[in-house]
Amino acid sequence: MRLFYVLLVLALAGPRPVIAAAAPGTQSTLAADRPTALAPNTTYDPKIPTLKAVLGYDAGERITPPEDLTVYLKALHAAAPERTALLEYARTWERRPLSVLIVASPERIAALDATKRDLQRLADPRGLAPADADAILARAPVVTWLMHAVHGDEVSSSDAALMEAYHLLAARGDAAVDAILRESIVIIDPLQNPDGRARFVSTNLQGEAATPDAEPYAVERDQPWPGGRYNHYLFDMNRDWFAQTQPETRGRAALYREFWPHVVVDLHEMSGESSYYFAPPADPINPLITKNQQKWFDAFGRANGAMFDARGFAYFIREVYDSFYPGYGESWPIFQGAVGMTYEQASARGLRYRREDGAVLSYHDGVLHHFTAAITTAETAAKNRAAILRDFYDYRRSAVSEGETGPVREYLLVPGVDPSRAERLARLLATQGIEVSRAVEPFRLGARTLPAGTWLVPAAQPSGRLVRNLLDREILQPEAFLKEQDRRRVKRLGDQIYDVTAWSLPLAFDVEVVTVDRPTAVKATPMAQYLAAVESTAQAAAGAPAGAPPKVGFLVPWGSATASLVADALRQGIRLRSADLPFTLGGRAYVAGTVLARTAENAATMPAALAALARTHGVELVRIDTAFVDSGMSLGSGSMVSLKAPRVVMLWDTGTQPMSAGWTRYTLERRFGQPVTAVRVGSLGRVDLTRVDVLVLPSGTYTTIAGDGLRRIKDWINAGGTLITIAEASRWAARDNVGLLSTSTELKGGKPEGEPPSADKPGDKDTKEGSASAGPIDFEKAIQPERERPDGTPGALLRVTLDPEHWLSSGTDGEIQAMVEGPRIFTPLKLDKGRNVGIYGKGDALVASGLVWSDGRTQYASKPYLMDQPLGGGHVIAFAEDPNYRAFTEATSLLFINAVLLGPAH
Ligand SMILES: [Zn+2]
Repeated sequence: MRLFYVLLVLALAGPRPVIAAAAPGTQSTLAADRPTALAPNTTYDPKIPTLKAVLGYDAGERITPPEDLTVYLKALHAAAPERTALLEYARTWERRPLSVLIVASPERIAALDATKRDLQRLADPRGLAPADADAILARAPVVTWLMHAVHGDEVSSSDAALMEAYHLLAARGDAAVDAILRESIVIIDPLQNPDGRARFVSTNLQGEAATPDAEPYAVERDQPWPGGRYNHYLFDMNRDWFAQTQPETRGRAALYREFWPHVVVDLHEMSGESSYYFAPPADPINPLITKNQQKWFDAFGRANGAMFDARGFAYFIREVYDSFYPGYGESWPIFQGAVGMTYEQASARGLRYRREDGAVLSYHDGVLHHFTAAITTAETAAKNRAAILRDFYDYRRSAVSEGETGPVREYLLVPGVDPSRAERLARLLATQGIEVSRAVEPFRLGARTLPAGTWLVPAAQPSGRLVRNLLDREILQPEAFLKEQDRRRVKRLGDQIYDVTAWSLPLAFDVEVVTVDRPTAVKATPMAQYLAAVESTAQAAAGAPAGAPPKVGFLVPWGSATASLVADALRQGIRLRSADLPFTLGGRAYVAGTVLARTAENAATMPAALAALARTHGVELVRIDTAFVDSGMSLGSGSMVSLKAPRVVMLWDTGTQPMSAGWTRYTLERRFGQPVTAVRVGSLGRVDLTRVDVLVLPSGTYTTIAGDGLRRIKDWINAGGTLITIAEASRWAARDNVGLLSTSTELKGGKPEGEPPSADKPGDKDTKEGSASAGPIDFEKAIQPERERPDGTPGALLRVTLDPEHWLSSGTDGEIQAMVEGPRIFTPLKLDKGRNVGIYGKGDALVASGLVWSDGRTQYASKPYLMDQPLGGGHVIAFAEDPNYRAFTEATSLLFINAVLLGPAH
């Protein structure tokens, strides 16, 4: 389920779908008068163990916990080893296994490696002779990948997965199952998010009543913070496919590239008031989805529809669930050539759920519907094996040929002031099967020379449509769709935009991308070869003697990788300084933020230790034997501030928004290796703040922090603390009764949010009504609300200009793009209150990518994105938006880590 649109499902569905044929005034389960057998009239092989034999209950009677899913899969594998393979593809952060059960004919299981080679050959058809291609197409299976429960509280699909596996292995004399085994390989991933499901099952069991409670707000389904939807770091992994930040997603993508499946289904749950959703998807459809793929959405949808009609299950199509953002579990496979589809079942969020219409939806209903859709899909894929394989092969070939004839032949990623970000982006592309190589020498491009180390991404490659999705500045939504959304917005009907409208990775990383209309001829090293070379150089250097220490020390230009190195080095006790201003030394220009490790200030072991860290983090160390600068700031200047290992606390639990809290913690601990203590909002009062340097408030509402608690925070800031507020936390900090930040959020039209509405002022009202009754009114004007928050921006990348003379901008080129989402616009700080370090662009320089409504374009212009307000000896650093959005907005994450690492030094 995509959380925010639960209510929309109902609003959009028109007449509420009738699911139950319950008599008026009675309660009945949805399927009370219908056969509830998963597959009626099927005979099962008693040698294959049933769920009851292994776990003690029938399908749908209990919510199977993660570890028991594995127990049953192992039992099935043990009973039918010749027709199954059980593969563990990753471990979660909480060390739970992620596994798939592969089901196929004994011949296919015996020759799995050869089959994989065939599948990989089809996925890269370059140089494949037509006769060889035909031979592979004739013998290869169609691969159907069924992925369940990426959202841990969308529980029924995992139990359906167990039944899918049982049915495929145990059904006897079933023509559909025979066809599936003959024509296909079915890969069943019963649980994409074990940590989230474990969290849900735990609170569900703790809240369990004597008999399952169907009340919507019963404690067993009313999940405490953060809920089971997310993984350990509270990521929505159905948004993580191209960002690849989580081990679960990385493991899946790696396994994906072994099999290159042709049909991929991501099975979810949605509101219990809804019915069942399958393809074809709603508008907008990503324009890089081919007509052929849309043809298959329709074919699979019709097959599912026919089966659901036959069994009397309600469903809807072409509503709510769009296919636009390329990071979903359905869409990333689409841009690799698969028929990718999302299925959604109304959730009982427990064993029984009483719907508004009085009918009771059961867990078993969910298992039944998901099982039916999944098996029907596998059957449809098997029946169409030859055509689907041929279309997949054509997809990968046409991606190459389109890249050879399109306007962009190659994307060049140029290492800028922080080369580590371009490299990180290049590596990220490579991990998802995109071909990337690295220029070994500088090369000319028109009047310009691009440096060695420029990354080349050819458009002509089998994953070319994924390349375009990730590297183009913008993927456009259809005009008609946008017009309709604007009409709905003006009428306050709410838009039908499902997710963010921008994600361009070069913008999010702030890496310059140059597109060329013919391939560059420069000599380049493929990524795999480059990585091997880096590895062997590091190994050789690790054993080498460190050499004499430099007279002065080492310089390290600031950037994302340097920030990770600094966090590590400070923790090891290495003393570091950071330059607030740029300088030139030995003919080389150094950016603000550049780090100095002085030989005289450190132990004799420093050079070796720092060199090891530089190899780990891929950072350049520059030895210097003189501190006599050519120009700019001196290395002994007061502006060469001393860094200290910051003791960081962040707020956690109720009050914080789970994803923001999760992104913050992940970014600190895992992205930059900066330890952080997560503290529940309610426990902040117990923290000895004298032991804290940095306090981070993720987006959230902190009304419980008031009175003494608030005073303690102010005293701590005055004494030198660095408070960092994110998004809604910044709104909270700016409230009059909080007073941490001398700004305010704006209403629509620019009025400050704190000011009372004129209509509420005494005496105002009568006058207004009097004048209104005097003559005809301007209706449109009369219905406009007095006080309204700005229209929410549905996830766009906006340009932010940074103050080059402020240390928070270290490692940037003075302009970045920030992900902006929601209705939050701040007035700038006055000069006597603080610095507006980052402000949104204006006019054409505002929107870098994505959709911003016309009112917003005016109102965002020149408003602050990043503020620094001193308070006594410390300061408040406020972000208007979440800088760590889904952990793929690398450029703004750099600003965030700058605040954490450099803030306490200022
Ligand atoms: Zn979901």
